[in-house]
Amino acid sequence: MEDKHTNVRVRFAPSPTGFLHIGGARTALFNWLYARHTGGTFVLRIEDTDAARNSQEATEVILSGLRWLGLDWDEGPVTPDPAGAGKGDFGPYFQSQRGAIYQRRVRELKEKGLAYDSEGAVKFKMERQPILIHDLVVGDVRRELTDREQADPDFVLIRSDGQPVFHLVNVVDDLEMRITHVIRGEDHLSNTAKHIALFRAFGVEPPNYAHIPLILNPDGTKMSKRDRGASLQSYLDDGSTPEAVANYLCLLGWSPKENREKMPMAETVKLFDLPQILRHNARFDIAKLQWLDGEYIREMGEERFFQLGAAALQRSGYKLDAFPPNYIAAALATCKGKIKRFGDLGPYAGFYFVDAVNIDPADRAREFTAESLARLQKLRDAFASLTAFAAPEIEKTLKAVALELGVKAGALVHPARMACTGAAAGPSLYHLLEVLGREPVLKRMDAALGTPPGKNP
Ligand code: GLU
Repeated sequence: MEDKHTNVRVRFAPSPTGFLHIGGARTALFNWLYARHTGGTFVLRIEDTDAARNSQEATEVILSGLRWLGLDWDEGPVTPDPAGAGKGDFGPYFQSQRGAIYQRRVRELKEKGLAYDSEGAVKFKMERQPILIHDLVVGDVRRELTDREQADPDFVLIRSDGQPVFHLVNVVDDLEMRITHVIRGEDHLSNTAKHIALFRAFGVEPPNYAHIPLILNPDGTKMSKRDRGASLQSYLDDGSTPEAVANYLCLLGWSPKENREKMPMAETVKLFDLPQILRHNARFDIAKLQWLDGEYIREMGEERFFQLGAAALQRSGYKLDAFPPNYIAAALATCKGKIKRFGDLGPYAGFYFVDAVNIDPADRAREFTAESLARLQKLRDAFASLTAFAAPEIEKTLKAVALELGVKAGALVHPARMACTGAAAGPSLYHLLEVLGREPVLKRMDAALGTPPGKNP
């Protein structure tokens, strides 16, 4: 068992492929949780030595994904970022900027006689005997040399074009960054014998390893890049709540003792530990995520709801900058408790942020009969004479008009809602009309009535 008092240092070391796989996001999360649980340090290192396919944007995909999930990193070179504040403004480490360190380490191996030149490349003199891996999740694994490796177990450290290979840079950085626990996907278990041999060649004890099982599709097949839900971005696009996604990712391969499912991050930080990482592959369960989305959004505080709600509307293409903050807040307040995911917010509340609503011809035909338009006209005129345009007055007025016309309130509510929002359902009518304000409401009603604007004061 590892000593909790040693200074834990973990890292997330993604290659920038332009895509943050949820398996990668979960690896980042488990590292972050372990660092926060132990009071250790979480390092972010971009493994971008493969210059041909790496780019600034690809790195940004990773950084913004981690920020969205609430995973902050603790270290790294300072990068000036006038827009940001606090943690996350520095770092990450970029391997592309650390070439000199790798060259120095290769020289060290050469001096020890553990690396040598071969056809323009530099190769490592691999250990000839089986290597035992003590993995905190997988258990003990004895790695024998394969038949092919028996013929030539040595492997390339620096390619003939001068590029250092993954095994070298990964180990050198884990060593230089004094990483104590390597928590990563099980697909890297097959590399671990090479890595352990390299650590030993540098005269250093290898770190602890914890290889996390893969995430599978609901049908048990291996999740590929193209599968639904494979990219963290797809959860953002679908309007999931980051708290729900983080909680959900925790459950993919880790299980708190009492088998609880919904668990706030602060509590997960307290309970998280490596031995509880499950050994079997985790199956993706979209229904559970949707359930968590609903739970988190229901319990969310107003401020966070406004923040995530505004971001979701912007993503749906609404230009919120054109509206005052208190208008946006009032509009979002009418949606709180009504939607299950932020992805639903565009269709639900987009009408607040357009000049004129778009009414589907079928809805128009159903809702706007000669009769209902005549009633709508009465309501419009009553609204026009209101001095205080607030929900209680709006409600009182609508009910008085209904009484006068001898109809139920619904006979006015439905056409008014359709005229002002373009939808048959949505936030409470009286409240949404108050938020829209009298002039926009009259303008929308006039449009429904077919009255040219300005002709009917
Ligand atoms: N760059 C490697 C990857 O993205 C990192 C592997 C590791 O965590 O050691 O798979």
